[in-house]
Amino acid sequence: MIPAFSARSYEFKTFVPARNFIGGEWRDPLTSKATLPVMNPRFGKPISHVVMSAADDVAAAVEAGSAAFQSWRKWPVRDRAQVFHKLRELMHANLAELSWLVSHENGKLYSEAEAEVLKAVECIEYGCSLPNEADGGKLEVSRGVTCETVYEPLGVVAGVVPFNFPMMVPMWMIPQALAGGNAFILKPSERVPLSSLRLAQLLGDAGLPAGVFNLVQGGREVVEALCDHPMIKAFGFVGSTRVAKASYARATASGKRALCLGGAKNHLIVVPDADVGVTVENIVASFTGCAGQRCMAASVLVAVGDVEHIIKEVKQRAAALVVGKDVGPVTTQASVERIEGYIDSAAKSGGKVSLDGRGAKGGEAGGYWVGPTILDDMTPDMPAAREEIFGPVLTIVRVPTLERAIEIQNSSPYGNASSVYTTSGAVAQRVMEGVEAGMCGVNVGVPVPREPFGFGGWNDSLFGHGNMTGWDGFRFWTRQRKITSKWALQKDRNWMS
Ligand code: NAD
Repeated sequence: MIPAFSARSYEFKTFVPARNFIGGEWRDPLTSKATLPVMNPRFGKPISHVVMSAADDVAAAVEAGSAAFQSWRKWPVRDRAQVFHKLRELMHANLAELSWLVSHENGKLYSEAEAEVLKAVECIEYGCSLPNEADGGKLEVSRGVTCETVYEPLGVVAGVVPFNFPMMVPMWMIPQALAGGNAFILKPSERVPLSSLRLAQLLGDAGLPAGVFNLVQGGREVVEALCDHPMIKAFGFVGSTRVAKASYARATASGKRALCLGGAKNHLIVVPDADVGVTVENIVASFTGCAGQRCMAASVLVAVGDVEHIIKEVKQRAAALVVGKDVGPVTTQASVERIEGYIDSAAKSGGKVSLDGRGAKGGEAGGYWVGPTILDDMTPDMPAAREEIFGPVLTIVRVPTLERAIEIQNSSPYGNASSVYTTSGAVAQRVMEGVEAGMCGVNVGVPVPREPFGFGGWNDSLFGHGNMTGWDGFRFWTRQRKITSKWALQKDRNWMS
């Protein structure tokens, strides 16, 4: 039994160790003795530790999942979805507790953590709706002959998730995979494994049978074992492009279907006719929200022509944010060093650090802090303009034309998100037709497609086919049986009779 997390403020509290949950039991790894501390980023102090499992633990989870799958697959989808109705109630009932847990293990502000849990609930609601969506369809294709499609589970499937949304990203996969009748193995990020403990507990409380949902804690070794295991039929991944690409290659090489979402470098194109209020508020919220650790965060502001009046206000508003209160910490000390490295390099190569978040402190002793940072007069070839920084840093590149702005966006290998700020329909349309990005926004800084629309980027931001969420997700975690039936010989024969 995993107890509720007790903190109801940013005050430091510890939590239980992150162990494996296999076949309905909390277990330590079979052979591995390795553990890692789980740090509270606001304090830079360990709040728990996580066990680092190995391939034998993955094998044990597959065995437990396979056993549970035999009866779970027979539950009608309507009954499976009842688990998600109950889980939704439990998430609401425990909203504050779960949000504080996310905040303490990831570092994001309580308000951001609460928004994350509520977004996870939206994903659960999509799972609740699946009985109304998942009829495969039936048609008389020839007199007396019908074709129908039935969605069937694959068996044991697995999902690997990143550190930045410990509660929401698992819910991009779990409702569709479980409502589809599979048994699921989740590998949380070893930096933020604690939310998954409460999730496993609540799924059980919601009536999910033992063994249908399993947790294997750890890092690379677990991921590789999940990719390789022959009885795991589908592999979902969300994380950096480097690991997404390697995992996609490894999982598909072992014959499984795979959908692997990678990193991002999102461009926001601002033209002179943009509404100042909407644009400024959105851009600042987008690059500073969750301390810039969102795959949908604004990263490059491409300023077209004279938009100085907007840039000036973006700087003023970002400078007024209070680190620790309005902007949370980043997740590790290594993140601080990586982000500051990009700022140093921009300054050295001729960029202007017009708002400098280096050395910021959030009011606590310790902790991993970088304040909002704006790099101006940057060129598109500089590392801060090309590479994913994953921190509260906005890079400004100034260009004379809209066409040049689109060209810069499209020179990025990533294709997660792109937005334009304008009051002109023609400009918006040109950008929406021209940019290489899977999730686009018009006057929206974080253009996340909400349920039932599917989440997924293009190019180096996604390996595989389709979106992770929405209907595509259900299709990814299921296979279609096509049944053609005839019950009597028809008089008006054709080739099918
Ligand atoms: P990461 O790639 O380092 O880790 C993701 C997962 O892979 C973790 O569970 C981790 O344990 C595992 N892992 C790490 N190194 C591995 C290796 N060498 N081999 C096998 N597995 C490995 O990513 P992160 O730092 O946790 O998360 C941040 C990244 O995730 C950013 O790049 C961000 O853009 C991306 N992200 C993308 C989306 C999206 O929807 N496209 C959403 C959220 C985050």
